[in-house]
Amino acid sequence: MPGAEQLGFDGMPRRLYACTPSRLNTWLDCPRRYRMTYLDRPMPPKGPRWAHNSVGVSVHNALAGWWRLPAGERTPEAAGRLLVRGWLTDGFRDEAQSAEWRERAREMTERYVAGLDPSDEPIGVERTVATRTDRIAVSGRIDRLDARGSELVVVDYKTGRHVLTADDARGSLALAIYAVAAARVLRRPCHRVELHHLPSGEVAVWEHTDESLARHLRRAEQIAAEAAAADEAYRGGTGEELFPPRPGNLCSWCDFARHCPEGREAAPRKEPWAALVP
Ligand code: SF4
Repeated sequence: MPGAEQLGFDGMPRRLYACTPSRLNTWLDCPRRYRMTYLDRPMPPKGPRWAHNSVGVSVHNALAGWWRLPAGERTPEAAGRLLVRGWLTDGFRDEAQSAEWRERAREMTERYVAGLDPSDEPIGVERTVATRTDRIAVSGRIDRLDARGSELVVVDYKTGRHVLTADDARGSLALAIYAVAAARVLRRPCHRVELHHLPSGEVAVWEHTDESLARHLRRAEQIAAEAAAADEAYRGGTGEELFPPRPGNLCSWCDFARHCPEGREAAPRKEPWAALVP
């Protein structure tokens, strides 16, 4: 939605900041990484792909594909077959490691869908939703949107090692924005957000209130205001100082670390498969 405009109080058109939750979080994590991801064109070449991303994307794709099967064919074995068929091999140390993780991911996916009711049709799978305030136009893709009773529920799949808690669900800007956007697009209330951690089978749940959702949206607007001002300066050819590096442990996992001396100094880059190894 670049260039989306809306009238401000003064009657003058105001440019809406078009964004995704991921863009806002990138600004918060590190303005330099934000610049390289969203503004520098051509985009600086990224480092090698990560094996944990291959696992995550493969599992997400298999689950999405499973829900697209006719209800009668939604068996755990079918989910396993989809996982194996769509397995992504980028980032693994070697073929043996990829095969080991494919097997783990297959088991994890089959175990997860064995706990689902295949006839309980979601309202949306990998559904894009969008909403706007008078400052931002925000969109994002929800892994799964369920209808439970009169409300919608946002479901996000997680495949990393870290077990998630209700605090993670409560604090997630992305989940809150998805809830607001889903409710507006589908004209049905949505307060509950869930993180489904496939490796452990745990589900972290948070029930938002209208106030807590509004707080997240205001927070999104504040972040967007900072990022929009920096974008504007960038377009005007100034403002390098508005994109400082934010060196820290996360630099080990930054796709752009090779272009960032401060980040490389802060934390050595990990091997592409490092997140899989305890
Ligand atoms: S390496 Fe670290 S400081 Fe540099 S851009 Fe990446 S996250 Fe930011």
